[in-house]
Amino acid sequence: MIQVDVEEVSKAFGAREVLRGVRFRVKPGEWFGILGPNGSGKSTLLHLITGLEPATAGNVRLDGKPVASCSRKALARQIAVLEQDALPPLGFTVQEVIEMGRYPYQNWLGDETADAAALVERIIAWLKLDSLRERTIDHLSGGERQRVALGKAMAQEPKLLLLDEPTTFLDIGYQVEMMDMVREWQQEWGMTVISVLHDLNLAAQYCDRLLLLHEGATAGIGTAEEVLRADLLEQVYGTRPHILAHPDSGVPQILLGKGTR
Ligand code: ADP
Ligand code: MG
Repeated sequence: MIQVDVEEVSKAFGAREVLRGVRFRVKPGEWFGILGPNGSGKSTLLHLITGLEPATAGNVRLDGKPVASCSRKALARQIAVLEQDALPPLGFTVQEVIEMGRYPYQNWLGDETADAAALVERIIAWLKLDSLRERTIDHLSGGERQRVALGKAMAQEPKLLLLDEPTTFLDIGYQVEMMDMVREWQQEWGMTVISVLHDLNLAAQYCDRLLLLHEGATAGIGTAEEVLRADLLEQVYGTRPHILAHPDSGVPQILLGKGTR
């Protein structure tokens, strides 16, 4: 588990400022959700947290250490990223793809940890991929592909998992399956999760806290009750939703209303 501090972070591409003074702390073991309209800077913010993109101003710290001062390999041992449809090129088998997650732990002698093979077996069993392990990833369904991508991320044994719209192309059954798997994994292994989610209702059900971005700046931060408010969402998305409490969990859920843009 890791603590993530985003400290007054700004990011510009040329003259275009896409993140402006964003700050928040994600506590170890928390599931933090990033919401906002298309183009509001969500993916850019994830890239800054991975250290792949440098911030124009401000700092990202992992357990107090600036990401800018961490080596690639050290970061790869701490952070796994699951982006939409981010599997390797076609032709690899399911098992090979999951084994690729071990890359940060490999040197010229092979994997540095003795129980890597056992770990891969555990992951395949847990994700119910046993019957698919020899299949190439070419013809898997969207839901199966996302499970393989999750398996590869798990093989990395991250302390921090970053998800960028992991459920976008999935039907509702696979959406819930994906989120449940992440939650179960998080609770069992004790991991911090930061996810960009398109679906406000899923975010409210799974995330401990939410950040709402609007044109690169913080429009709201807090629990689902604090962030998913009709006035705030109307301001950010240009449509005023109706908000109900979920009959099982009581968390706010959105019904689309009229456009007000
Ligand atoms: P989101 O994930 O919220 O949809 P992004 O973070 O992908 O938004 O993008 C935010 C803005 O930054 C967009 O206007 C996008 O065009 C711009 N942007 C993202 N990456 C780059 C880049 N590498 N170069 C120039 N502009 C970029
Ligand atoms: Mg994005």
